[in-house]
Amino acid sequence: MTALALLGGSPLRTRPFRMWPQFDQAEFDALADVLNSRRWGGIHSGSEGESFETELAAYLQVPHAAVVSSGTAGLMIALRALGIRPGDEVVVPAMTYVATATAVSLLGGLPVFADIDSATHTINSSAVKAAISEKTKAIIAVHLGGQPADMDGLGAVADTYGIPIIEDCAQSLGAAWNGCQTGSLGTIGVFSFASTKNITAGEGGAVVTHDDELAARIASLRDHGRPPGGASDHPQLGWNLRLSEFQSAILRVQLARLKDHLAAKDKGAAYLASELSSVPGLRPVPVPTDLDPRVTAHGRFSFAFTFDSEAFGGEETGCTSVSVFRAALRAEGIPVSSRDLVACPDEPIYAEATSRDYSTSRTASATQARAACARLVLLGQAAGSGLLFEESAELADVVHAVEKIHENRCHLSREQRQPGRIHV
Ligand SMILES: *Cc1c(COP(=O)(O)O)cnc(C)c1O
Repeated sequence: MTALALLGGSPLRTRPFRMWPQFDQAEFDALADVLNSRRWGGIHSGSEGESFETELAAYLQVPHAAVVSSGTAGLMIALRALGIRPGDEVVVPAMTYVATATAVSLLGGLPVFADIDSATHTINSSAVKAAISEKTKAIIAVHLGGQPADMDGLGAVADTYGIPIIEDCAQSLGAAWNGCQTGSLGTIGVFSFASTKNITAGEGGAVVTHDDELAARIASLRDHGRPPGGASDHPQLGWNLRLSEFQSAILRVQLARLKDHLAAKDKGAAYLASELSSVPGLRPVPVPTDLDPRVTAHGRFSFAFTFDSEAFGGEETGCTSVSVFRAALRAEGIPVSSRDLVACPDEPIYAEATSRDYSTSRTASATQARAACARLVLLGQAAGSGLLFEESAELADVVHAVEKIHENRCHLSREQRQPGRIHV
């Protein structure tokens, strides 16, 4: 039995996997065209921004799309467009990228954390219902990792209370629920084009809606409060959260490639899901047999699985933590995210709010979110890697690395009890 790379053995894989982001000559040409045009920014007719908005809206089957500088900017614009005021409550998942919640806080609103579903890791509609108060003004559904949230359940809750749903689609471009693209299902959909997302220009975002009035407000809020169409007066308070033409030009190229990318990543994910299911203690999220028929397309931002430390604890009672497991995988040459996941209510900005005069929040429920954070392993773009594009022959190394760690689990748990031996 060969020793684990984390404990000084040789790594199972030394060849790098495919990288993320992917690009080719088309991005170079698009950038050169913008450079030569001398129109590098601004919102003008015939712009790359306008063309990208039209193409994105057509892809999502929504009438309106507005490009913005980031996903977080998009969330703030969406909240502002819906009239969220200081003190208003917005229900958000207890496990998401923290920007879902901080966008609410930055507008003076109060994020209310509602727990996730243990099978899909997306916000649980019963938990949302229980989190609603008379101050609730919106719900943010996050399609985490590319897995659509339960939009049927959430829609029923939103209808009961007459409150809008903002879809945080930062990780879900290309995902579909009942045949409809994420972003087209709620009142407003928000996308991010930051480095790891399904299409990227390094930074960027978009806000989409079916509603004409909201669309006009959104377009104005990102452009100093100017009315759409470029008039020079400023009837509402707005930010400058525009996107540059260089970014829009790259995004047009990337959007055209999305369909092929998703198909390739789906194949990689299906292979990993079936192979990793047979390793004791590992469970893909969601489990292949639990697949919801309403999820008609997955966004494949990441491939996630949970790690059960008991199954990796060896004969001795000392358990291997998920951080050590991830470090062991990385040492074997498998790109996994190194960040420890933290449930939103446990982020210092919220957990230490009273002592540090940070942002206040309310936690309605977070048990499953906390449990998931202690068990989750993320592969793919979430780890900054193009791993999911690989063929099965290459992905087999992921499975072999996991099996190697499982076989050596006794060594890992023993070493772990000697302080300083393992650097996570
Ligand atoms: C990336 C991300 C955001 C923020 O997008 P930025 O473009 O980085 O501002 C918001 N929510 C989720 C779920 C994300 O993954």
